[in-house]
Amino acid sequence: MSWEYFEYDISTECACGKGNVIRHILSESDDWGRSYSQYTGEKIDCPECRKKYYIRHVKREKSDRAFLVPNEINMPEVIEKKIFFFQNIDEEIISRVSHDDLKASINDMINNKYSTRVQLDSSRLIVNEFKWRYKRRSLNIIIPFLEKLVRNYNRYEWTFERVKEYKEKELLEIAENEKAIKEAIPKSFELNFPWL
Ligand SMILES: [Zn+2]
Repeated sequence: MSWEYFEYDISTECACGKGNVIRHILSESDDWGRSYSQYTGEKIDCPECRKKYYIRHVKREKSDRAFLVPNEINMPEVIEKKIFFFQNIDEEIISRVSHDDLKASINDMINNKYSTRVQLDSSRLIVNEFKWRYKRRSLNIIIPFLEKLVRNYNRYEWTFERVKEYKEKELLEIAENEKAIKEAIPKSFELNFPWL
């Protein structure tokens, strides 16, 4: 199989209208006609605008807007939420169940004896996690596993409490950041590149 590469530039008018902003595109296509394009760089091709502006992108899941932002205005980049993903079941459980709830779940499991009869949401979450990952949900396996987790809880980096604290802080940061972006947009010049 072979790949073909094309490189080319597209351009759009700059803020003052006397020059351009140039975007460099790299495009690849294979024997089956599949192709991928991405931009690899942009530059302000106007002596006046180059002095006054910088380029900033507001990238979200389904959109990517480019702006010439005046140098004295701060337009931060979009902050994306951290996605917590854990390979191992111990890390996963510890990130989602507090230390107290873990202990309560152990008691719940001991008292109710069967995984189908547990009462607490945290117990169900743990049982489901075992079922989903290992197709097993015997409390004879789960209880000793949880007892070990309780003992080692603080050795884990992302405990439930730390994840919660991180997410709360992140929400505030994102709110601040979004406010700065929102304020900067009307003072900036949006670039209107033709579609790739
Ligand atoms: Zn210009």
